[in-house]
Amino acid sequence: MDKLIEGLNPAQRDAVTSPASVLQVLAPPGSGKTKTLTARVAHLITQCGLKPWDIIVCTFTVKAANEMKERIQSVVGEQLGKKLILGTFHSVSRRFLVSYGHHIGIEKNFGIADSSDQKAILTRIIKSHDLTIAPGAALGRISSLKAKNTSCDVFAATVKKDVSRQELSIVYMEYEEKLRSANLLDYDDLLLRCAFLLRTYPQCVSNIKAVLIDEFQDTNNVQYDLMTLFAQRNKAITIVGDPDQSIYGWRSAEILNLKRMQEQYPDTLVINLEENYRSTGAILASAQKVIEQDETRPAKCLQATHTIGEKPVLRKLPAAGAEADWLVAEIKRTQALSGGLLGHCDYAVLLRSAALSRQIETAFGREGIPYRMVGGTKFFDRVEVKIILDYLRVINQPEHNDALLRIINVPARNIGEKTVKTLFDEAEASKVSLWKTILDAAQGNLRASVKVPNLAQKGIGEFTNLILTARKKLAGSEGGQLTPDELVDYVLKRTRFENFLRTKYPDDCETRWANVEELKAQTADLTAAIARGEDPLESEVLPEVEGLKQQTMTIEDDALSVFLANIALSSEKQKTAEETESLQCVTISTMHAAKGLEWPVVFIPACYEGSIPHSRAEDNDEERRLLYVGMTRAQTLLYLSCPMKSSQAQETMMSRFLTQKGVEAHFEPQGPKLEYYALGQLAKTLRRDCPPLEQLEQSRKTLDLREDTYWPLDGTRPLEESAKWNGRYLYGSDQSLPGNQYALKR
Ligand code: ATP
Ligand code: MG
Repeated sequence: MDKLIEGLNPAQRDAVTSPASVLQVLAPPGSGKTKTLTARVAHLITQCGLKPWDIIVCTFTVKAANEMKERIQSVVGEQLGKKLILGTFHSVSRRFLVSYGHHIGIEKNFGIADSSDQKAILTRIIKSHDLTIAPGAALGRISSLKAKNTSCDVFAATVKKDVSRQELSIVYMEYEEKLRSANLLDYDDLLLRCAFLLRTYPQCVSNIKAVLIDEFQDTNNVQYDLMTLFAQRNKAITIVGDPDQSIYGWRSAEILNLKRMQEQYPDTLVINLEENYRSTGAILASAQKVIEQDETRPAKCLQATHTIGEKPVLRKLPAAGAEADWLVAEIKRTQALSGGLLGHCDYAVLLRSAALSRQIETAFGREGIPYRMVGGTKFFDRVEVKIILDYLRVINQPEHNDALLRIINVPARNIGEKTVKTLFDEAEASKVSLWKTILDAAQGNLRASVKVPNLAQKGIGEFTNLILTARKKLAGSEGGQLTPDELVDYVLKRTRFENFLRTKYPDDCETRWANVEELKAQTADLTAAIARGEDPLESEVLPEVEGLKQQTMTIEDDALSVFLANIALSSEKQKTAEETESLQCVTISTMHAAKGLEWPVVFIPACYEGSIPHSRAEDNDEERRLLYVGMTRAQTLLYLSCPMKSSQAQETMMSRFLTQKGVEAHFEPQGPKLEYYALGQLAKTLRRDCPPLEQLEQSRKTLDLREDTYWPLDGTRPLEESAKWNGRYLYGSDQSLPGNQYALKR
């Protein structure tokens, strides 16, 4: 018991141990909400006798999920700990659908339509009807209709004479039909169908005794419904969140859900946490100044537990290129000044949109700074990776039309666009799947009126042969059964993939091949886990409940589809920012994807009007909250910057959030000079040891620093200046700090 709540402050302890069945922990960034939620899960198991499989936890980040798993496992053991039903709303929903979906007509091997599948389907529908709506816009509108629980039939009844709504209605109807016939669910369907399942068969969750939700401020209505459905038996719900960090309005997230919850559960207990454990006082003060610009927001209390620290930097640069150069120089300079205290993985560059990364990536590449991009072109979206995955998808599920269309002529097999269209039209006309039509074409069984050139027919034959053989091998009916990584090897060999990359992408085929190898390594991990006798499906299976049969899964039949589903969900959004921690590289991420995470040093470049607030944003308050989320990720050093010319060489104006209401006073233009004392404080905030003086001196010599960019370590600085300078750090006085002793000695 003690161990669990050790180190928590009184308000956090109250939240962890509260007997209230419905609990809201509302608190600002860095106040330990996620930490508290994790401790509460452990508390429920060790002190309240709940079993891990009686608890559903929805978290936003992999980091939180892992932390929670580790914690629970350290208490109840690995085997039991694994049984916690834990993940994003999407992945938890998928698990219920895999186990119980057959009761509502969903086959267990359904595929997940990712955003490129969705766009491809929509593009085809729009073309075939000659409509004017853009596929991206249609996708956004359909998704928000689904998030509001408006089905295509309901929507059709509301369109009346409005032409654009009529168009959307046609597209929506047909889109749903296409997904159904290909046995695909899109991201919204996962949630909606799961809600339908739990409403129709409440038995599925008859064992669930507690439901816990992180980042509640960003749940939309469907997710809210799911939460109440998960908890329908015991009505025990704990949520943590922060209305000031609500940034997913475009996903129909509803700040109002906080109120709605209090109304629905009148006994809701609200606990506030007011101490910030993440950032220095100066960073908090600047972020506070930004969020306070929203005058409708109720005033709140937030106290720093760390020292004031270095003032955040706000810098104007002549152009986007110069901004990237400056950013690189600051990383190098602060690293050298810190003498090993700060490593590459301590830095993050947070962007309003992924498109802004180009200049920075170029500068990093040139200067040899290792980095990893999060929330941009994700690994699984890279062309070469996607092709291989599409092969696996088709092998797993030949009715997956879009995957099929993407690879039928990749690498080239003389199957031209015209032939593909002929086959596609024929499939539509005779109401069979594209795969069936292609099989017919390969065997020359098409209707006489459907003409396919000879060369193309040969190509189609090769393709179907490849897929059919792989399917037999996967099922073990031809020789030994292929493991997932052998299957990838098979595809690479049969398509002569390395050759293909070399011819098609001569400039960067090496990098692309490295990505393929990375994918191979991932399938090899899965294979190894199976070989070790670990059941990768085990954590997929839900507890038995009375009166409702679960679908059984077998490694042979389901490992591949589970692997593919996990990929579809992990590339969906966010995540993976925390994966960079182990690699020594700088993180580049969107601000959206950085939610819930923290780094010692954070850069937010491109702070100009049109970028933040974004020119297409409908809600400037939400843009402000987004900047607030970004700024509050920083623990010790925060840099905001604005190029006077954007990367498109357009004149810019600094963001209104950084120019109004006296906010400038909280920043200064120069990066910190990081003297020894300041470094000591910085180390303390990060709970690390400050490097010894000799090491610092050594490190500062490695970089040819300009003299006015740092304070010398030898105490030659005039005393009064030093005192003035030190005043900024003196929040409490801590004699035990190495920097402090040094300052005193001097
Ligand atoms: P966000 O709103 O950004 O998600 P949060 O409220 O979830 O923030 P956490 O991520 O849980 O905050 O905590 C922020 C940091 O503060 C973490 O590094 C955490 O370990 C630390 N922390 C939280 N509570 C305490 C405490 N009582 N003592 C020491 N450190 C703490
Ligand atoms: Mg959190």
